Amino acid sequence: MSDPTRVLAVLGRGVVPADTPFLRGDDLGILRGDGIFEAIHVRDGRPWMLEEHLNRLAGSAARMDLALPPRPALVDLVEQAVAAWPAHVEGALRIVCTRGPEGGGEPTIFASVSAIPPESVRARRDGVRVLTATIGLPARLRPETPWLLGGAKTLSYATNMASVRWAKASGADDVLWISSDGYALEAPTSSLVWCRGSTLYTVPAKETGILAGTTAAYLLAHAGDIGLTADEALVTPDELRSVDGAWFTSSVRGPAPIRTLDGIPLPYDPDLAARVRTVLGFPLPPEPAAEG
Ligand code: PLP
Repeated sequence: MSDPTRVLAVLGRGVVPADTPFLRGDDLGILRGDGIFEAIHVRDGRPWMLEEHLNRLAGSAARMDLALPPRPALVDLVEQAVAAWPAHVEGALRIVCTRGPEGGGEPTIFASVSAIPPESVRARRDGVRVLTATIGLPARLRPETPWLLGGAKTLSYATNMASVRWAKASGADDVLWISSDGYALEAPTSSLVWCRGSTLYTVPAKETGILAGTTAAYLLAHAGDIGLTADEALVTPDELRSVDGAWFTSSVRGPAPIRTLDGIPLPYDPDLAARVRTVLGFPLPPEPAAEG
């Protein structure tokens, strides 16, 4: 039976039942993680910031020497997937492009929409407990080492997911990756944003080779709407202890306030957190039904 909570659209085939087998066993996306993707929030039946995500996908493709189809074909694929998703349900849209079969051939390209895990929605309200973990590289290395693919959103997320599993096994929710020279960079699936005084900051992507987060960019571009200014800076975990608020931001989970860092509570202002969440337009989890 096809999965009613997932939509699948394959380039060249359109929307197919979500459990349709369509990926070959010799696809380089599977064999080597050789491909790229985007994850996009679907709200009110529309993909949020599609243009920005397609721009980043094109950047990732260029970094990987991967040929993408013309943009209208990608937009059409996304539109087909989103049209098959119930408009009143928020969703997670993925666009995936692999290098295709090992022996050569067309890239494999598909879009899927699925439900957002309740844990992600709850993190918008309850925040996340974060552990720092080294990424083993100096903060400014990746722009000079193109083979490390800094800034590209590739399918090689095994280390990212291992980091999150390690955090969970250690009693936390997520990881803040730290460079070998001591700077906070990003999380395995989100960007770091913090507020000090009346300024919202994030980590400079060009200088560090982290992924340029679309959610953090939107938040900083709209900082003025919530009475703040915006800037980029490098920050150490110690400096984060005295900020006015810190978040992990990402397209599907939205803003998740960082409540503890290595077990120590970080400053948290519920009013500031509400302003950040509101400007980004992410709903909170539904309140539990009142008893009686
Ligand atoms: N950094 C990494 C490594 C990510 O995987 C993600 C999310 O996919 C982000 C940052 C946040 O990016 P965005 O806000 O565009 O989802």
